[in-house]
Order: sequence, then C-alpha cells, then structure tokens
Amino acid sequence: MKHPPCILCIGGHDPTGGAGLQADIETVTVLGGQAMSLVTALTAQDTHNVASLLPTPADFFTAAAERLLRDITPDAIKIGLIGSVALIPPLVQILRGFPGPVVLDPVLAAGGGFDLSAVRLVEVMREQLLPLATLTTPNRAEARRLADNDDAAEAAQSLLHWGADAVLLTGADEATGEVVTNHLYLGDGNPRAFRWPRLPHRYHGSGCTLASACAAYLALGDDVITAVNRAQGFTAGALQVANQPGGGQWLPWRRG
Ligand code: PLP
Repeated sequence: MKHPPCILCIGGHDPTGGAGLQADIETVTVLGGQAMSLVTALTAQDTHNVASLLPTPADFFTAAAERLLRDITPDAIKIGLIGSVALIPPLVQILRGFPGPVVLDPVLAAGGGFDLSAVRLVEVMREQLLPLATLTTPNRAEARRLADNDDAAEAAQSLLHWGADAVLLTGADEATGEVVTNHLYLGDGNPRAFRWPRLPHRYHGSGCTLASACAAYLALGDDVITAVNRAQGFTAGALQVANQPGGGQWLPWRRG
C-alpha cells in the first residue's frame, strides 16, 4: 500500500499541547497525513504566555535533518517557530532541495505577548525564507513586522514581492466586530476574502493549526485556494469545540 502523504513539521515544542509541534502533529494526523517533526526549540510556557525559549543547537538540528531527509522525502513542509538565526542556514538548505509545497507560519510573538523572534531573525526570514515559501500565513501584526510596513494589506503585497507565492493574511488578532476576515493574496491583484464568525475566547495555537492544515491539504493534492479554504474550516471547527484546561487561553480540540 502506498503510504499516506508525509508532512514535515519544523517548529517548537509547547508543553501545553495547544501550539507548536503538537498542534501540527495532531492536525496532520487527523487530516490523514503522516507527521514528521524537527524541533527548533523547547519552550517553557503555560496557557497565559511563553516564559523562555531554548533553541536547538544548529549542528544538532542539521544532523537530525540530514539523517531524516536521506531516509524519508516529505510531500510538504510546514515551518513554524524558528527561534534562532543560527537555524536559518540549515532550513534554507532543506528548502532549496525540496520541490514540494512549503508553508511558512512566521511565528514572531506569542498570543500572550512574549517576543519569539529577534529583529535579525525577522530580517533573515524575510530575505531567505519567504522566497522559498509556497504559502505564508501571517496574522496582521506579523505581516506588518515582517514587511516593515504599518499597513497590513500593503505588507501582505510586499511579502509576495519578497518571493512568497501566496499570502494568507489572517485577521483574528485584530478583529473587533462579529466577523473575522482572512485574505488570500496570490499576486493576481484580486485578494480573496474569507469571512468567519468571531469566536468568544482567546485561543492558543490557532495559527499553528491553520498553517499545518494548509500543509496537509496541499500534500493531499489540493490547490492553494482549496487548501486554504478547507484549512480555515478545519481550524474554525477545532476552535468551536476548544477547551480551557488551564487559567489562560483556550486550546483547540483537533479531532476532525
Ligand atoms: N509556542 C510555540 C512553540 C509556538 O509555535 C507558538 C506559535 O506558533 C506559540 C507558542 C504561540 O502560540 P499563540 O500565538 O497561539 O499563543
């Protein structure tokens, strides 16, 4: 039997299980993929905020990636938290030799406020990773910071100019009314809007869930518009049945 599509998730560990690699692995698994994972960083955090971050040493990350990729060729790659500029060269190395879809979730800050990316890391992500991304999924604050532009819509356009094939600009971080609007930019001058009911709580790991669902659907053969649409549906479903095991943000329930 042919194996299910393999999605390589590259990101950080979140002990709450809400965000990071655990979010990726749950999402990919529920959607029918085989999740592979490379850990960029350990974090100390709870459902309120991240307290500290310990990046994986670059030489160990490189050795782990080389060994893994000599054996298994993924069908899609999803990148979340990077956590250290030293991991950019091995990441570029992985992506340059990879012909399949790459989803880049530019994780710059935790929902609780902790800054997860230094200024230099943001610059290097923009210059070296965006050109290798099939799809990037910033929220409005991340898009502004990544593009260094205060206007989120202009920022999304400039992420295309930096080389991403598609940008899904998510709106939940700054939504105020009843509706969350996400916009997909494909460089055809015709951004597509997706509207979702705004949900009542603050959630931990919604962005990771969305980006890894995009990667899973792309690996399963969807085109970008279909993958983005279905991934939003999956994420909205996981947030509708979220739960609050701690005292802070709610955690998505990713069971399909
Ligand atoms: N911790 C890790 C390891 C993450 O990857 C992320 C987001 O991607 C976060 C924390 C922050 O998650 P949130 O912004 O949903 O609070």
